[in-house]
Amino acid sequence: MEDSYRHKGMRRRLVNEIRKKGILDEKILEAVYAVPRHLFLDSGFLNYAYEDKPFPIGAGQTISQPYTVAFQTELLQVQEGDKVLEIGTGSGYQACVLAALGVEVYSVERQKKLYEKARDFLPKLGFHVHLFYGDGYLGLPQFAPFDAVLITAAAPEIPQTLFDQLKTGGRLVSPVGEGDVQTMIRFHKEKDGRIIEERFGKFRFVPLLKNTADD
Ligand code: SAH
Repeated sequence: MEDSYRHKGMRRRLVNEIRKKGILDEKILEAVYAVPRHLFLDSGFLNYAYEDKPFPIGAGQTISQPYTVAFQTELLQVQEGDKVLEIGTGSGYQACVLAALGVEVYSVERQKKLYEKARDFLPKLGFHVHLFYGDGYLGLPQFAPFDAVLITAAAPEIPQTLFDQLKTGGRLVSPVGEGDVQTMIRFHKEKDGRIIEERFGKFRFVPLLKNTADD
C-alpha cells in the first residue's frame, strides 16, 4: 500500500491532463490528486493506473476513466457536507473522490465481490464511505433525501424511486441509454417537483442491471 513520490508525480501529470481536457474546478482536481488510483488496480498494472483510461477491475466491471469521474463530479455541483447517493460502487474510486471533497457518500453495488472488496479496502486508504450491497434501482430510502445522486452505470431510464430520494433543488447525474454509447444527463428536481434535464455529450458505461448478483 505504498504511495511514493513517483506515484504522486504520475498523479500530478494525470491531473494536468484532465485539466487540459476541460475540468477547471481546482477542488475537484485536488480530490483526484488526493486518491491513489494505482492502489485500486492489481499491483502489476501501475503503468495503466495513471493513464486517463477506464480499466477492468474483475467481475466484468471497470474502474471509470479519471476524466469521466471528474466530469460527473463536476456536474453534481456538490459542496462539503452534502449527502450523495452513488449507484455502482465498483472499485470505490469515484466514491473516494467524492469523499475527498468532504461529501458524505452512500454507495450501492450489486456485485457482492466488488462490494466486499471495497468495504475492506476503502477504510485502509483512510476514506470513510457508507457502502451497501444491494440493487441500486431501489436506492437507499432509509437514508434519503440526498443532495445529489450519481449513477455510474448506463441506465436505460432513471428509476422514479431515485428521483423520489432526491431533495428539492437536488441534481441526479447519469449516463442514459441502452446502446454502447450513452448520453450524460443532469436532472434537476425543481420546487414544484418537476424534473428538468440538461445533456452533456456521449460516454461509454457498463449497463445498470436489475437485482443483485453474487458472481
Ligand atoms: N463507480 C465505479 C465504476 C462503476 S462501473 C468506480 O469508481 O470504480 C459500474 C458498476 O455498477 C459496476 O460495479 C456494476 O456492478 C454496478 N451496477 C450495475 N447495476 C447496478 C445496480 N442495479 N445496483 C448497484 N450497482 C450496479
